[in-house]
Amino acid sequence: MTQPYEYLRRPLVEPDWTRLPGWRTVTHDQWESPQWQRVNCVKNIKQLRRVYGDLIDDRFYDDLATDQGRYATMSMLIPPQMINTMVPDAPPTTDALYADPIRNYMIPVASDRRTDWPSRPNASRDSLHEHDMWVAEGLTHRYPTKVLAELLSTCPQYCGHCTRMDLVGNSTAQVDKLKLTLKPVERYDAHIEYLRAHPGVRDVVVSGGDVANIPWRNLEGYLMRLLDIETIRDIRLATKALMALPQHWLAPDVVEGMERVARTAARRGVNLAIHTHVNHAQSVTPLVALAAKTALDVGVRDVRNQGVLMRGVNATTPELLDLCFALQGEANILPYYFYMCDMIPNAEHWRVPVWQAQQLQHDIMGYLPGYATPRIVCDVPFVGKRWVHMLTEYDRERGISYWTKNYRTSIEGEDTEALAKRYAYYDPIDTLSESGRKWWAKEAAG
Ligand code: SF4
Repeated sequence: MTQPYEYLRRPLVEPDWTRLPGWRTVTHDQWESPQWQRVNCVKNIKQLRRVYGDLIDDRFYDDLATDQGRYATMSMLIPPQMINTMVPDAPPTTDALYADPIRNYMIPVASDRRTDWPSRPNASRDSLHEHDMWVAEGLTHRYPTKVLAELLSTCPQYCGHCTRMDLVGNSTAQVDKLKLTLKPVERYDAHIEYLRAHPGVRDVVVSGGDVANIPWRNLEGYLMRLLDIETIRDIRLATKALMALPQHWLAPDVVEGMERVARTAARRGVNLAIHTHVNHAQSVTPLVALAAKTALDVGVRDVRNQGVLMRGVNATTPELLDLCFALQGEANILPYYFYMCDMIPNAEHWRVPVWQAQQLQHDIMGYLPGYATPRIVCDVPFVGKRWVHMLTEYDRERGISYWTKNYRTSIEGEDTEALAKRYAYYDPIDTLSESGRKWWAKEAAG
């Protein structure tokens, strides 16, 4: 019997980095050293050329330079571990690099972007209004019982589609970044003070940026202070570096520190989990699986994945299921969520319409264990995560879906209207029918 998707177990493989001219002589010890990985991150075109030698044509680098000047919302920062998962099976050619899904979102080029609508009319730098909902610097209180703690504004890797492009990373030609102004210790104190004063908050997502960029002693100090607050029952550490720089999470001082934190969390009955961000099966390698296993071995309760659904990366059923099976079956990482890509500037070529996300959710059901079947969610501005089938109305012609909510965010006070309103989310204009595209063109013309 044939099925729309054929499952085949695929053992994980660490791609051979010596196929890349710049890393021909790099040893295993060097590769597995977090310091070596950090020092050898690719931050600019010159360094990328050094890695690829003469394998890649100038047309690719010219395309990349155009993107950096005209469109990029994130600066370049890619650990060798991630570059090594692009075109993993052979020395890359220019065409293979163009077609690669990891390259697509980590090294965006101008020819990827849409020329008709690179940004949608109401795209915004902080599309989820996280900054507006800060109750202390870096502390977003959006849901009633949960907060997001942005401890820092850097990561070991910068993703082209980053939803926190307003704050995270270095400024680019197009985007002058918002800056955190408090000293880290003052920021941490402000968070702890707020959480002590608000016992209704029970769940803290400790994020950034990426917590892998916080000196371990500081992160451990913050986590232990959270664990001292009796009303905190869930702590989730957000780190894409578990995939992009697994060497960090395998470093002995980090593993020993995680063990201390996990032991304290267990003693106090707090759920401690790691949330990572993997978008394609190619990224799941033996080192990533080892980093996840090590976290679980030292007592972290769960390692979960929150990917982002993107055209050109993973927006097909086989791509999503291949990734989920690699995570769940080979790396012990729970495929938890796929977020729709947010309405930030210059991201239209990545975004998928709601109807397509609904279709994908339908098509991935029934293959994975139920508890490991990810939910595809839409993060609706001023609302929060909604499963993609939860919309109340959908104007398919104009690509506008309407959503409701059942709680107030921290900026709505006693606003009774907040719960009665409908909130809009917009499909990419290029995916609409001709009449829908014309309607938006007329709107934009005023
Ligand atoms: S790791 Fe997360 S926060 Fe950092 S650039 Fe990527 S998406 Fe943004």
